[in-house]
Amino acid sequence: MKNIFDLETQNDSLDAKITAGFERLSQVFRVLLWEKAKNNDLSPIQIQLLIFIKYHSANKATVSYLAKEFNLAKATVSDSIRVLEQKKYITKVPHTEDSRSSTIALTPEGIQVVDLTENFTDPVYDIIASTAEKDKIILWRSITSFIQQLNHIQIISAQNSCSTCDYFEQENGSNHCRLLQIRLKTEDIKLDCQEHKPARL
Ligand code: SF4
Repeated sequence: MKNIFDLETQNDSLDAKITAGFERLSQVFRVLLWEKAKNNDLSPIQIQLLIFIKYHSANKATVSYLAKEFNLAKATVSDSIRVLEQKKYITKVPHTEDSRSSTIALTPEGIQVVDLTENFTDPVYDIIASTAEKDKIILWRSITSFIQQLNHIQIISAQNSCSTCDYFEQENGSNHCRLLQIRLKTEDIKLDCQEHKPARL
């Protein structure tokens, strides 16, 4: 067992300090989202679902897709969707070919809630924006690598990122997108790409 919370272990090991640092960082968005959630009588995940639906295509606005995206059980997402529907922030749009399935769309009231809450990330954005460009690139390289490895061991989802895309290729140590026909520099790697095509397993 790696007890990173034991301070002697933690302070003797850079690995433990970095892991503890990530644990500390994991609190950031929870704290920022709770502030918005309290002010709008919603839960943090309900706000995240509304924001995701606003900025993604209708085929991604389904309970199954949202459950995978947010690493939640379908029942948890369904509960949140039910509350959002009761509050009239979303509406279900039946599929044209299969009336048993539906996608989720925002109502004008739902869009208003997104407008009021989506800036919850601003304090983090402002710190990143004031960081030197070369440090941002190192940070982004580390973040994308962590996400890729955590996705590989099935801890978090990366269903729209370059690392899981059929168009993504690695050649002689550099990354390429076959669709856009470009070399992907570190800063070009995407976490959430509209053109993403799931890689064939
Ligand atoms: S299509 Fe998008 S996700 Fe896929 S490799 Fe190209 S940039 Fe990355």
